[in-house]
Amino acid sequence: MSAVSAAVDREADRLTELDSAIGDADHGTNLRRGFTAALVSLEQENPATPGAVLLLAGRQLISTVGGASGPLYGTLLRRMGKALGEADSVDTAQLRDALRTGVDAVAQLGSAAPGDKTMLDALYPAVEALEESFEAARTAAEQGAVATVPMLARKGRASYLGERSIGHQDPGATSAALVFAALADTVKAAEAAA
Ligand code: ADP
Ligand code: MG
Repeated sequence: MSAVSAAVDREADRLTELDSAIGDADHGTNLRRGFTAALVSLEQENPATPGAVLLLAGRQLISTVGGASGPLYGTLLRRMGKALGEADSVDTAQLRDALRTGVDAVAQLGSAAPGDKTMLDALYPAVEALEESFEAARTAAEQGAVATVPMLARKGRASYLGERSIGHQDPGATSAALVFAALADTVKAAEAAA
């Protein structure tokens, strides 16, 4: 969560710039507000398990972000947290299963599917690639985000633009790629330290 928050903070301007092309220019500020609030409560409450960390972070995203992305990312984290339950530690297979459950919940909440030019276009390929490795998931999320450029937006604010949404990278797919990059970096650092 710290690595995601740092990445969002670093890239907030770029996310907002992408959102200014096909949205309302707030994606970077939305996520910065949400993940900063999540980190603050994590430090205050210091939850004992990975599941509890995700539940708390998700709750903060939902309650502090006004835009669509708050409830969507918040639901992703909360559903992951629920899926992990009380476990003290989590292996890659459990994390992948939890992510799949969370991403399905995002799709259901937003009634969106891959190809609609949303965060799902990065999230689904990343979850699939996690079968292989965290690095593969990072690459798949990044490629998924780039693949939104020629898509026509069918969900969210960008869909109001119709054909004019074509030719721009989706902000939410871009932030989803940041999340998987932070995850891959964190795992790499942990493995190097082990
Ligand atoms: P808002 O659109 O309310 O201003 P943000 O700018 O923070 O919220 O987030 C926009 C991003 O949210 C989009 O780029 C897209 O990836 C994602 N998004 C919007 N609507 C949906 C949806 N129905 N399903 C999945 N993702 C969505
Ligand atoms: Mg926006």
